[in-house]
Amino acid sequence: MTTQDLAGTPVVWSEDCLRHEPDGEVWLGVWEPGTEVPERARVILAALTTAGAAITPARPHPDEALSAVHDPELIAHLRTIWEEWQAGPYVTEHGRRRVVPYVFPTEGLLAGLRMRSPTSTHGRLGRFCYDTMTLVGPGSWEAIRAAADAALTAADLVAGGERLAYALCRPPGHHAGPAAYGGSCYLNNAAIAAQALRTAGVGRVAVIDIDAHHGNGTQATFYDRADVWYGSAHVDPGAGWFPHYAGYADERGTGPGQGANLNLPLAPGTGDEGWLAAVAELCAAARGADAIVLSLGVDAAEADPESPLRVSADGYRRAGELIGDLGPVVAVQEGGYDLPTLGGLVAATLTGVAHASL
Ligand SMILES: [Zn+2]
Repeated sequence: MTTQDLAGTPVVWSEDCLRHEPDGEVWLGVWEPGTEVPERARVILAALTTAGAAITPARPHPDEALSAVHDPELIAHLRTIWEEWQAGPYVTEHGRRRVVPYVFPTEGLLAGLRMRSPTSTHGRLGRFCYDTMTLVGPGSWEAIRAAADAALTAADLVAGGERLAYALCRPPGHHAGPAAYGGSCYLNNAAIAAQALRTAGVGRVAVIDIDAHHGNGTQATFYDRADVWYGSAHVDPGAGWFPHYAGYADERGTGPGQGANLNLPLAPGTGDEGWLAAVAELCAAARGADAIVLSLGVDAAEADPESPLRVSADGYRRAGELIGDLGPVVAVQEGGYDLPTLGGLVAATLTGVAHASL
């Protein structure tokens, strides 16, 4: 890669995205260091700057852009829960240094009863958070909001005529649904961007998700809609991988959205050949959309600790070329956790997109 491969490509960024410090995750009952760390954003920013990309500040957007895809109660919860947690006995008396849910109102627990909003803070957490590894702490809300603003700013740029704009979102978003957060995701940056494109007058939007994991939150957001298509290539949840309960091939959409959802689960160990064939299949199905939102996770890379897929940097570049050939692209950062290779993988993908759209 030459040093100026991304000259002129807008990289939308806010320093506030560094403020979210989940301080690890609780996985299978044990507090672990976690891999969704601020350093991820720093190494991506460094690689893209070296490649000549133009850093563009994320601009604030009104809450209506968030509530266009999310339940206002989820937004209010994320905005206030850390302050509420600190005001309770959790940190000072119990040493619970982050917000972690412990009881979840599953269908089985409710057994047909209506959903209530429990009185206690700790009782209420499971209403919105569906796992124990998506912690809230100091700076989380500022980063969550900044990531959404970055995605919205990138969508503004593409709606205004740019062929490619990239939002360096942290935390990521594609596991967050209309009224649920989890999987290290809080608000769904890609879904917010896709809806913003629609609101700006773009006719048909396709979300292409190349993160190693299925974007269950994005799928849930648009599952019954025909105007936003969703397609994903990801490690097969049926082979034992997160998000476990979604991402299967028979999930094709419902009602007006019937046929507007395409999941391509891949066997663990899949490398460039199989993965690129799946990406090409997604692109063929998405062709005709007026704009693309690319959920750009690079955790399908061989060195990544979070998935068993084995995609190379050249594979990511070629995927970028396939996607850039479809039309204007809003790229939104999702996963990717191998710090030594992360920046280069994002740069390779965006280089592919940028060159295809010349
Ligand atoms: Zn992922």
